[in-house]
Parts: sequence; C-alpha cells; structure tokens
Amino acid sequence: MSGTRTPRFSETSDVKIGWARFTWNPVTGCRAGCPWCYARDLANSPRLRPYYPTGFEPTLWEDALPSPLRRRPPRTQKGPGDRAVFVSSMGDLLGVGVPDEWVSRVLDVMGAATWWRFLVLTKQPHRLASFSWPWNVWLGTSLTGDAATPDPRGRAQALGSTDATVRFVSFEPLQAPIPEDVLDLGRIGWVIVGGRSAAGGYPAATANPEALDALLDGCDRRGLPVFEKQHARPGDAPRRREWPEPELVGVLV
Ligand code: SF4
Repeated sequence: MSGTRTPRFSETSDVKIGWARFTWNPVTGCRAGCPWCYARDLANSPRLRPYYPTGFEPTLWEDALPSPLRRRPPRTQKGPGDRAVFVSSMGDLLGVGVPDEWVSRVLDVMGAATWWRFLVLTKQPHRLASFSWPWNVWLGTSLTGDAATPDPRGRAQALGSTDATVRFVSFEPLQAPIPEDVLDLGRIGWVIVGGRSAAGGYPAATANPEALDALLDGCDRRGLPVFEKQHARPGDAPRRREWPEPELVGVLV
C-alpha cells in the first residue's frame, strides 16, 4: 500500500518495549490471532484506527521502506537499546500473507542501514532460514508456553538453524513452563521475559512465577543474559536488564 503519510519509523518509550528505542513497521498486521495481542488492540483502537486503514490485516508499507536510511541514531546514547530498531512491532514481518519478495526488500534496507541494529521477532521462525540475514540483524522468536506457540522445541530449532549474529527468544507473556533445552536447540544468546499488558479483553498479568524461576535458572546455568520487561514479576520488582556481549551490541559503524 502506498500514499500514506503515517510515520512508520518511530521513537518509543522505555516502558513500552525497553530493549529497542525505535520501531520500524514496513509490515503491519498479522493473522496469528494471539488472544492478548497488544498490537491488534492498538491498531483497532479509536485513536489509532485512522493510521491503520486495513485494520490488522497484513499490510506492506512501500513508503516506510526507506525510513531507516533517512534516520540516524541519537547523538547522545544512554544504553544499548538506543541503536536498536524493533522491526514490525505492529505485526509480524514473517507472518502469513507477507511474501518472500517483500521480506527480501526489507532485508536489503537493513543490510544497507548499518548504523542500526535491527531486531526481528517472529512467531513464524520456520521462515527465517529462507533468507540470508545481514550481520546487523538479530533474530528472535516468541515462546509463551501455551497453545499460542505450540512445539517450542521445533520453533527453537528453526531459530537455531539460522546464522544470525544474535539469536534471542522473547518469553512474553510467559504463561507456563518451557522445556529448558529450547535454550540449547535455539543456540540462544539472549533472553527477554515478561508478563502481559492488558489487551484483547485480558487483564495485565505477571509471568508465571514457577516458569520464570525455572527459566532464569536455566539461563544462569548457561550464562545467558536476561532482559526482564514490565510485568515479569509482581509489583515490577527490580529487573535484570542484561544484554549480549558488548562486542555484539556495539558492532555498528
Ligand atoms: S504473532 Fe504477534 S502480532 Fe501476530 S497476533 Fe500474535 S502477538 Fe499479535
């Protein structure tokens, strides 16, 4: 779709995402149908609906494509997230209905915009191996421990089969225990974990406490950095805000 003036490359707040200061949405919308999808709620909200004329149907935004080439990271940077761009925060770049050709075009832009670190998070990790990802792209998948992400080992293996600079898993919202070996199968280098915001008629909720403890133990046994988001623990108690090795965070020119 073209002709829109909607900015699809935006600065976000620490509270909303935390691990990425910017979002870029060359694709919005998604058909996965996760029950508590905050993005679907936002796109359908009266306030934002005018910016999403196709609702939450997968939509390709031609005019958004060059945005990362026109923007530069802020001169003053407070943390590792300041150069990070969450790709398709309002959908799934690799979701059903997004053609390979479009993904390849997005990938070309990411490869050219070397001053950004792009984070692609998908619930369709089996598509990841079809592409050659530039060095400044980190690849992640979501695992929730419930029916929204069945076959966690298969999903982890799909992620682990890629040669991304960093592979990560977002356990968000962490609903139930996850088999610990997904960390090995996915060759995971970074873990994000959180509960859920209120969305889709569901109230906000913390991560499942037993699942969170087990996951953190598994990460500690492997020396994996963990980034806890809001709602990870009751009362938003002190969070771990760890990143992969500095040489990976800083591999930018
Ligand atoms: S995969 Fe992500 S964008 Fe798609 S419905 Fe689920 S939570 Fe929403």
